[in-house]
Amino acid sequence: MLQEKPRAQFARREALPVRRVPGWWSSLTVFLLWALGLFVVALWVSNGGITGMMTGTAGILNELGRLTGLAASYLLLVQVLGMARIPFVERAFGQDAVTRGHRITGFWSFWLMLAHIVLITLGYAADTQAGIWGTLVDFTLNYPAMLLAIAGTLALIMVVVTSLRVARRRMRYESWHLLHLYAFLGVGLALPHQLWTGRDFLASPAATVFWWSLYLGSIGAVLVFRVLKPLIGTLRAGLRVTKVEQLQPGVVQVTATGRHAAALQAQGGQYFNWRFAGPGFTRANPYSLSAAPRTHRDGSTDLRFTAAIVGDGSRRLATLRPGTRVSVEGPYGKMHAGAATRPGALLLGAGIGITPLRALLESLPTDPRTGRLEATIVQRHSDEHDLILADEIGRIADARGAQYYQLPGHRVRERASWLPEEYAHLADTEALLLLCPDIVDRDVYVCGGPGWMDAVAAALHRLHVPSNQIHIERFAL
Ligand SMILES: Cc1cc2nc3c(=O)[nH]c(=O)nc-3n(C[C@H](O)[C@H](O)[C@H](O)COP(=O)(O)OP(=O)(O)OC[C@H]3O[C@@H](n4cnc5c(N)ncnc54)[C@H](O)[C@@H]3O)c2cc1C
Repeated sequence: MLQEKPRAQFARREALPVRRVPGWWSSLTVFLLWALGLFVVALWVSNGGITGMMTGTAGILNELGRLTGLAASYLLLVQVLGMARIPFVERAFGQDAVTRGHRITGFWSFWLMLAHIVLITLGYAADTQAGIWGTLVDFTLNYPAMLLAIAGTLALIMVVVTSLRVARRRMRYESWHLLHLYAFLGVGLALPHQLWTGRDFLASPAATVFWWSLYLGSIGAVLVFRVLKPLIGTLRAGLRVTKVEQLQPGVVQVTATGRHAAALQAQGGQYFNWRFAGPGFTRANPYSLSAAPRTHRDGSTDLRFTAAIVGDGSRRLATLRPGTRVSVEGPYGKMHAGAATRPGALLLGAGIGITPLRALLESLPTDPRTGRLEATIVQRHSDEHDLILADEIGRIADARGAQYYQLPGHRVRERASWLPEEYAHLADTEALLLLCPDIVDRDVYVCGGPGWMDAVAAALHRLHVPSNQIHIERFAL
């Protein structure tokens, strides 16, 4: 049978403040994206899109070419907005959903862009004697800013090819990320040809205002939220490393303290992109808070994360010295108490993925109706080397009246399951129900390795846990 961990004694703490994420934030964002997309189509129609298609083959090809070009531009700008990490969007969707959306819109905008090039070329070729190659040469040499657009297209092709899973797996993260930034160049280089030759940008004042606002809004959002806000937040917080602990082989814990770090308004379980002064400063690594931010009597606040050592960046953490200056971008992510939709929670963590859940356990509010915390935390680990922060979790669970289960051992090998071999006789859904009989009425937070998380997510879907109650954060992009 599944055994609950014996409780230790721990003093009760006061409830921590929670910044809630209203459910309508995500609905509003999705609505706005669709509404703007439909507005793009409406502009195309009002600028003669449908009537142009009545004029024969060339008309159909040209008009569809225009429409696909507009849709590609729109989705590219949605991509840029997604990369801007607008706090409202980040807090409503979380990193996982934003990354998934970024990938899907990325591929769609790419295919639409290719369709635009093919359709427009065929459409113009159908009206001339120059043939397809002649039309392409004519475009390149005689149309304003077309050379820039071709360079932009090549940059976007490189970004898409290097993002295919096969290619991505073979590349170092830094190399892939650097190449990915060429997407900004691609978008930037494609803009002038749209402004100078794109009928839809110039046909009506409404179209011109719409597209300029979208372009300037997207660029502005990136500058504000990816550059200015982190810079101001970092300067204001004044974070410095105060403690570096080797918790166990391969796991290091870093605490940074800042006089005004409370102003960052982080919540336990959220993550920051961290940089530390010295060699390697240029590279930011994401780490989740493994404890709720703790404010001292003098007003300074501790931010803490716990990291598995997997490569150069994480190896460097163990060598950080107290006093090292820290720069942060964030807080991001949906792994926080403010994302809760229900009074009860089930927290499922595996390996290093348990760390944001430990912070969440500390931060979840008590049920106002009962005055109790309805929470169950489950820690999957292979062996004792993988049992991270167990003492702390035990103490918090005890202090807050939560259930704490540890599930040790290797994962079931015969099937894609989230369970350890010891419980192979149980179905994945059955084990979840044993741990938490009222699971469909709870928020479920999941963090661990990709395969394990997929198995958990599949079991949750089979149990019909509503998707807005499932909060997932992957530790790999
Ligand atoms: C939202 C989020 C929260 C995370 N929280 C934690 C945490 O609390 N504790 C923890 O141990 N790990 C966490 N990780 C994983 C951690 O960021 C990577 O292990 C770390 O960046 C690896 O860097 P490296 O130089 O040591 O290894 P590398 O060998 O450079 O990278 C190993 C793998 O880590 C991932 N990775 C590397 N750099 C980045 C980056 N800048 N952004 C995203 N992924 C990257 C890639 O998948 C890469 O293949 C988190 C990741 C994400 C995306």
